[in-house]
Amino acid sequence: MLVVQKYGGTSVADLEKISNVAKRVIEYRENDNDVIVVVSAMAGETDKLLNLAHSISKTPDEREIDVLISTGEQITSALLAITLKNMFCDAISILGHQAKIITDSSHTSARISRIEKNHIMSEISKGKVVVVPGFQGVDEKGNITTLGRGGSDTSAVALAAALNADLCEIYTDVDGVYTADPNVCDRARRLDRISYEEMLEMASLGAKVLQIRSVEFAMRYNVPILVKSSFTDGEGTLVCKEVSDMEKMEVTGVTHNKNEVKITISKVPDMPGIASKIFTALSDAGVIVDVIVQNVSRDNFTDITFTVAKTDGRKAYKLMEDVAKEIGVEEVALDEDIAKVSIIGLGMRSHAGVASKMFSVLAKEGINIEAITTSEIKISCVVEGKYGELAVRALHKAFGLDSELVGEGA
Ligand code: ADP
Ligand code: ASP
Ligand code: MG
Repeated sequence: MLVVQKYGGTSVADLEKISNVAKRVIEYRENDNDVIVVVSAMAGETDKLLNLAHSISKTPDEREIDVLISTGEQITSALLAITLKNMFCDAISILGHQAKIITDSSHTSARISRIEKNHIMSEISKGKVVVVPGFQGVDEKGNITTLGRGGSDTSAVALAAALNADLCEIYTDVDGVYTADPNVCDRARRLDRISYEEMLEMASLGAKVLQIRSVEFAMRYNVPILVKSSFTDGEGTLVCKEVSDMEKMEVTGVTHNKNEVKITISKVPDMPGIASKIFTALSDAGVIVDVIVQNVSRDNFTDITFTVAKTDGRKAYKLMEDVAKEIGVEEVALDEDIAKVSIIGLGMRSHAGVASKMFSVLAKEGINIEAITTSEIKISCVVEGKYGELAVRALHKAFGLDSELVGEGA
């Protein structure tokens, strides 16, 4: 079997952990598997490097940021290859530009366009373990690029797809994908399997266990992903195509995301072309808008509310102040203290009343809903920031996802 194994930051946080990773890799090799290992930077390293750059400038050059933050993964790659060799396992590190992981030129959030497999496969055919730094690539002009935070997941899945691997294993600090973030909801349950579609929604709605783009890749190229813990043994969670015998619960998972802000424009003239003016200004500036709500108009005026990523909040607010002057509105307000709580599940397609149940659970907790958005398999509500985690726990319980309590307290 050809397997890609990815180890996240906490799994390679120090030399002892790197040595444990090496032992796992060697054990896998001994069962006649070929292994490509993708590693993240040591836990905290990417943040440390970014802080250094931001202590020099508020807006450091993004090309140089990529040169800087790609070094974190380079360090762990070399350390793991040295450790493997020291344990008598032949290994070689191959960096993003050497492996020819070609991306576009969008520094700090580049997209992989192709990967040349010859270099890696020729080392594999010599019997070596190939270690590849995650997160990094190279554009057509030879500039180093990075794939966005959490991007090593995407490196691993893209490599698995390009090299026709049988499996992509993602080793992290939890032993699988849970019905909610286990660090927020202690009654969360590990899922044995989850469909690509549900995982894609979970990832885009706040479950950072897999980067969104890695799930997109897996879905497009049909790469099975097994999420496991690098600290304990266990079966993990298989992320795969929907199969008919998957549990058809109303809801598979609950997530929350505190990385968005809400902008409300009050008393907007209700006439053709206004919404287009507002949202064109945002898209021209590269701001991605998430939830959009427009109220019913009264006396030819309406209110428009939308959310954007926290990192774009100030920029979007300034743009809206400019647009407001042009079209004449009463007020533009920025609310930076919100949480978006979501329930996700393929079962929603066949169960009625899921939305009303969600709203009544939130009402019972005294949580006001500020905006709502839905798709076929998810419902999201924007609520006050402080209620995010409480809402997750209440919804998790109400939709029957809580695990049985075990031990003395049960
Ligand atoms: P790594 O450094 O290995 O890439 P991450 O920190 O990116 O790990 O992702 C693992 C974390 O994702 C877990 O520690 C957990 O808190 C968080 N997480 C959020 N939602 C979920 C979920 N539904 N299931 C599992 N983990 C989740
Ligand atoms: N080191 C990068 C980050 O912290 C990429 C990754 O770990 O996946 O975002
Ligand atoms: Mg991660």
